[in-house]
Amino acid sequence: MTTIKTTCSQCGDVELTPDDLALELEPSEESGVYRFSCPTCGLIERRPANARVVSVLLATGVAYEVVRPDPITEGEIDRFVTALNSEIDPFRLLAN
Ligand SMILES: [Zn+2]
Repeated sequence: MTTIKTTCSQCGDVELTPDDLALELEPSEESGVYRFSCPTCGLIERRPANARVVSVLLATGVAYEVVRPDPITEGEIDRFVTALNSEIDPFRLLAN
């Protein structure tokens, strides 16, 4: 079984198996977040995972879930369209 070394903020270095971890990935991102519960103190930690960490964790068989960022609502689109229509220079909106 593959061992994954990481750090618990309470205990320091801990060793985990792929079953102890879960990855949270966003659909359009190569990076994400990994989540584990410390085998020593039970604390649940969430850590950013860059693209390399994500690929290593996936290769060891860590389960992952795709988390979707909040979808844009119709209300937000309406407000954006209203703002566009009332804005003389629409590109000014993009600078905000
Ligand atoms: Zn711990």
